[in-house]
Amino acid sequence: MIEPVLDVRGLTKRFGALVASEDVSLDLRQGEIHAVIGPNGAGKSTLIAQICGALTPDAGSVHLAGRDITGLSTPQRARAGIARTFQISALAMENTVLQNTMLGALGATRRRPSLFRPILRDQGLRDRAEAALAQVGLAAHLQRPVADLSHGQRRQLEVAVALAQTPKAFVMDEPMAGLGTSGTHDLTTLLDGLRTQAPILLVEHDMDAVFALADRISVLVYGQIIATGTADD
Ligand code: ADP
Ligand code: MG
Repeated sequence: MIEPVLDVRGLTKRFGALVASEDVSLDLRQGEIHAVIGPNGAGKSTLIAQICGALTPDAGSVHLAGRDITGLSTPQRARAGIARTFQISALAMENTVLQNTMLGALGATRRRPSLFRPILRDQGLRDRAEAALAQVGLAAHLQRPVADLSHGQRRQLEVAVALAQTPKAFVMDEPMAGLGTSGTHDLTTLLDGLRTQAPILLVEHDMDAVFALADRISVLVYGQIIATGTADD
């Protein structure tokens, strides 16, 4: 059996009497988009927070490419290869599209920026950032401040920041939220092409997007996975 890229085993998280994650297990395999769906309050964001390190589980483990990352901090997990997107506030509005992408990508590298080698002149980093921005369709907007971008373009930029980290896995919490029809269509097309670079764990409300994209779907209700299968299932 091929080892999954991301392997979540028995995650349990309690908030007082509420069990927000109850023995949740799922995996993410090379080349796939695995969607997690479920009603509001089902525990989707709590699950993502435990995978990315923002919340510590009461029980269970998270492995990335065979490595136990359960005890790592969020930045350590990013460096290990988990790229979480759609943290809007993580974008610096006054900085340019290119600067945001380079700084985001740098966050996932081990190298410390040097005083003598300003990071924004690092050619390798710049090449990676520009390639990511070209892939998401922002090549013409490198020098624009993020504040000038449309909502849809900011989502594309968040994907570029993740992509420039050359991650092992993408984790996305409701990327389509707040996008109109054309924005959702554009982002769906973008994510569709992304899975070959790294698999995507996708929490999403938009069922059209889920059925268009997901190779597998897991249904989370009251903190428990009640079913996992293909879209056809
Ligand atoms: P979803 O993302 O599926 O809408 P959440 O993971 O945000 O669900 O929430 C799952 C449940 O856990 C909800 O009942 C929510 O109120 C509760 N919850 C989430 N975060 C906390 C917290 N920090 N403290 C207490 N309860 C929380
Ligand atoms: Mg949520």
